[in-house]
Amino acid sequence: MIDYRSDTVTRPTPGMLAFMQSAPVGDDVFGEDPSIISLERITAAKFGMEAGLFCPSGTMTNQLAIKTHTQAGDEVICDELSHIYQYEGGGIAFNSGCSVKLLHGDRGRVTADQVLAGINAEDVHKPITRLVSLENTSNRGGGACYDFNEFKNIKKVTEQHGLALHLDGARLFNALVYKQEAAIEYGNIFDSISICLSKGLGAPVGSVLIGSHSFITKARRWRKVFGGGMRQAGYLAAAGIYAMDYHIERLADDHKNSKILSDVLLTKEFVTSILDVETNIVIATIGGKYSAAQLVATLKEKGVLAIAMTPTQVRFVFHLDITENDLAKTVDIINAL
Ligand SMILES: *Cc1c(COP(=O)(O)O)cnc(C)c1O
Repeated sequence: MIDYRSDTVTRPTPGMLAFMQSAPVGDDVFGEDPSIISLERITAAKFGMEAGLFCPSGTMTNQLAIKTHTQAGDEVICDELSHIYQYEGGGIAFNSGCSVKLLHGDRGRVTADQVLAGINAEDVHKPITRLVSLENTSNRGGGACYDFNEFKNIKKVTEQHGLALHLDGARLFNALVYKQEAAIEYGNIFDSISICLSKGLGAPVGSVLIGSHSFITKARRWRKVFGGGMRQAGYLAAAGIYAMDYHIERLADDHKNSKILSDVLLTKEFVTSILDVETNIVIATIGGKYSAAQLVATLKEKGVLAIAMTPTQVRFVFHLDITENDLAKTVDIINAL
């Protein structure tokens, strides 16, 4: 099976596994796991931030960030397609007791004007707006990246209104590679950033939350409360360290391959449109002889796995376990449909 369902499906490479096996470990709840301490430092330093926190999942890093930035009864502003709203099980309400102001952005990206308009006035009837959460790249937006100037504009708004600014950077390295941006610039804009190691970077488990010392100290307490305090998890953190060294530059291959697949799909009569490919995600709108579910079923019979995201949209995601040869086979299969 050639598996395009998600960039989470990768297995550790032999090099990554060997590095994991040789990792020095200790009890991280006691703050004694050298590999976790290194991963947290390396990640924070890349973005010019003070501290990091290793967690089992990107859902946990996002939810910890929301919990740490807010009080129950506050409101969080985000785009309607956001992972924090769509795919975290209602955690904003459950974990933090916050309401959400949804913005209707462009492929998951919002503007500073939209954020400004979403801030509640000082009024006893209204929840207190406390946090703005952005996503780069946008998953439901088909891997779309922000224009960095919009981050600067949004930062001006959040600063003027005393709001915290969080970035769900599950695929931030895809954006950095595609836009050739410097990580350090992101550290200057955001109060907290969540980064997934288990997406395009190819680690089996884990995400890192980065921010100031005081923010991470509070988030570390909440991580324990959420049940995310792990012990000799340095074996997993080592995979993240390895990924940062060896799996970032190669993301450009995924981006190139996504474009190739997109161009082939566009020649088919059953593909009505495709969200312009920027990074490693291809979202095609399906019509004519297949529904999204029928196309996914047909591809599966031929050894290709994809996901029907909505009744009319199929998603393909590239990652390090999809080779050039896999892509060539996929192109032949699609051409024959
Ligand atoms: C995958 C993903 C996450 C985190 O997901 P987990 O499966 O909990 O690690 C967060 N945000 C976005 C945009 C994602 O795509």
